[in-house]
Amino acid sequence: MRKDIKFLVIIVVVILCFSLLEVNYSIDETVFDNKVEQLDTQTDKYDEDAKMIAITFDDGPGKYTSKLLEGLEERNAKVTFFLLGEKIAKYPKNAKMIIESGHLIGNHTYSHIDLTNYSTQRIQEEFNKTSDIIMDLGGTATAFCRPPYGAYSKKVLDALDVPIILWSVDTQDWKCKNAKQVAKYIKNNANDGDIVLLHELYETSIEGVLMAIDDMQKDGYVFVTVEELLLRNGESIESKTVYKSNKLNDKDFN
Ligand SMILES: [Zn+2]
Repeated sequence: MRKDIKFLVIIVVVILCFSLLEVNYSIDETVFDNKVEQLDTQTDKYDEDAKMIAITFDDGPGKYTSKLLEGLEERNAKVTFFLLGEKIAKYPKNAKMIIESGHLIGNHTYSHIDLTNYSTQRIQEEFNKTSDIIMDLGGTATAFCRPPYGAYSKKVLDALDVPIILWSVDTQDWKCKNAKQVAKYIKNNANDGDIVLLHELYETSIEGVLMAIDDMQKDGYVFVTVEELLLRNGESIESKTVYKSNKLNDKDFN
C-alpha cells in the first residue's frame, strides 16, 4: 500500500513539473506574438511602395544618446537599438530614454562576448540578463538578438528562441570616425530593404547618420525599425532564423 502511495506522489510531481514547463513556454511565445502583432498594425502607416531602410545602433547606450534621439525625432525616423547589458548598467538614464522613445529595442548580450565560444547556459544567461534589465527599466522582453561580431552557430540559434538580426550594409563607422564619411557611405551603399550597422558610441556616427537621413528622406526613403522592415507586405518573422535585409527584388525604384 505504501509503495502505491509513493508511486502516486511521484506521478503527480512529474505531471506538475511538465505543466509548469508548458506554462513557461507559452508565456515566452505570447510575448513574441504580441509584439509582432502590435507592430504589424504600425506598418500600415507606410505606403506599401515606400523605399525602406532599417538603421541599427549597436553597443549602446552611450554618452550621445539624447543627441541621437532628438535628431531622430526631429526627422520622424525610427531605428533599432541593440543594447548591451553592461552599458545599460553604466548609463541607466540613457537606456530609459531609449526604452521610452518608441524605437525598437533589441538584445546585444550583456558583456559583448563571442557567443559561439560559450555553453548554451551562458548564451541564455547573456541574453536573459540584458532582457531582464530592459524590463526592469519599463521595457518589454527583447524579441530580437544581434550577437556580438555577428557571430552565431547552430548552438546559438538553438539556445535563443528569437530571430537573429545581422546587417547588409556595414558602415565601419568605428574605424573612420568621420561624420561626412559615414553619411557618404550610407548614401552610396544603402538601398531599399537594407539593414545598416552603426555604433552608438561615436558622435561622428550620430552626426553622419542624421546627415544621411536628411538627404535620403528627400529621395523618398522611409526609416523604419528592423521589425517593420521584415514585416513589410505582410511577411512574418521566424525565431531561430537569421535576417540580413528584406529587399523586394521585383520592384523598380527609379
Ligand atoms: Zn557590438
